[in-house]
Amino acid sequence: MISLKNQLMLIYVLFIGIALGVLTFVINLSIGTMFSGLIKDNIRERSGEIINTIAEQYDPLDAGFNVAALEALGMCFVHEGYIVRIEDTAGLTLWDARTADMQHCAAVMDEITERMESRYGLNGTVQNQSYTLSYGTAPIGAVEIETYGPFFYTETEIDFLASINRVLLRAGIAFILLGALISLFLASAISRPILRASGAARRIAKEHSGAGPLKSPAVRIRDNYNIKELKELSRSINSLAEELEEGERRQKQLSADVAHELRTPLSCLRGSVEAMIDGVWEPSRERLESCREEILRLTKLVEDLNLLTNLEWENLALDKTEFDLAKLLEITAEQFRPAAAEKGIRIILETAPGPVYADYNRLKQVFVNLLSNAVKYTDSGTITIAAVTSAGTAPSEVTAEIPAVVTIADTGIGIAEEERRRIFERFYRSDKSRNRNTGGAGIGLSIAAAIVKAHGGSISAEGGASGGSVFRVELG
Ligand code: ADP
Repeated sequence: MISLKNQLMLIYVLFIGIALGVLTFVINLSIGTMFSGLIKDNIRERSGEIINTIAEQYDPLDAGFNVAALEALGMCFVHEGYIVRIEDTAGLTLWDARTADMQHCAAVMDEITERMESRYGLNGTVQNQSYTLSYGTAPIGAVEIETYGPFFYTETEIDFLASINRVLLRAGIAFILLGALISLFLASAISRPILRASGAARRIAKEHSGAGPLKSPAVRIRDNYNIKELKELSRSINSLAEELEEGERRQKQLSADVAHELRTPLSCLRGSVEAMIDGVWEPSRERLESCREEILRLTKLVEDLNLLTNLEWENLALDKTEFDLAKLLEITAEQFRPAAAEKGIRIILETAPGPVYADYNRLKQVFVNLLSNAVKYTDSGTITIAAVTSAGTAPSEVTAEIPAVVTIADTGIGIAEEERRRIFERFYRSDKSRNRNTGGAGIGLSIAAAIVKAHGGSISAEGGASGGSVFRVELG
């Protein structure tokens, strides 16, 4: 399997290579076109110079050309690739390069043809151009110039072109090497944090697998990258580690709390039973009754814990039906009236009939827990139960949760603001409730919250307008 770093490098190098190739091709093509245009101008210019040079060899006094000079110049022109033939005004040939040195002319032409065809793929031909020679305005003859057309390069020009290509090639190689280095740097910059993150994820997994003790300080990776995705990845891994640690911490706390909650009634039971066995205590009905109560408390605690675990792991299937919320609240309130009346508390119901689609028994448990707390933590005054439903929805249309809000307000001891969120945690009890020795294990609200959450709703605690607390349950 190819690594991300190598793959990135390959892509970068390939990209740089292709980009450079295209760039070199375009540069070469435009240089070639520009250069050939320049050369054509040069040939035209040189032909003009040749004509002028030949015209300068005319002697007006003699009314003729210096043939010896023409011959010397002509051979030079041949050498440059220009084969000339000069004639006088009567059409008589004064000097002809081909006649003078046929072999040399053919060799020069062959050499140019070969150079242009094999090196530049130019399928040119030998081209003839005639020009009039004049002295002032008077015609003194004509010159015919034969060249390889449409253009040809001299050796110097070929060297110049070759040196441009060499520079381009060197620049290309230098760019590819530079590109490879940059690719290596970029690919490493991207792959290194990913490798680091995967290493950290492995270490975190190992640390939380229970294979060894938790390391201190906990495994974290740096997350101050400039690349958004890398930053996100590092942050996700760090928050995953935090969540795992928090989960572990809670699990440990839970074990400790469960042990604590079980230890007290168990040691109480043990003490009583041992005292009876040793004959210290007479096994009276009241003592056995008290032992039974402890056993029932333990059973309830275990059942509550089991229910909470099922709810939190979403193992509990809700048996949803449509029913009247006001009726449910009424029935639940009735259950608490005797206990409330004993403390001189009035339970007020402010509800109107309205349907909800929920698990009747589980929802009842929510209100039982809330009302039991309200009674438990209120010494006098009132407990007001209010409910708002989306009344008017036809029962046949009820297929999903119907929005409903229930509030249970008491005039009791209230809950300090900083504790309002924590009271929904398992085994959490406020100091006030501990001092009062209410006997609760601190999981009634956790169960209520888990049931409401399983219904897709939410539960919160607020302070009452005139003291006490208000619990608010939102469904749907
Ligand atoms: P407990 O069994 O201790 O009542 P809960 O989970 O039902 O456990 O409640 C957690 C804590 O929240 C209680 O110990 C108490 O401090 C606080 N609490 C709950 N309901 C009320 C209330 N109506 N008034 C004041 N405090 C409350």
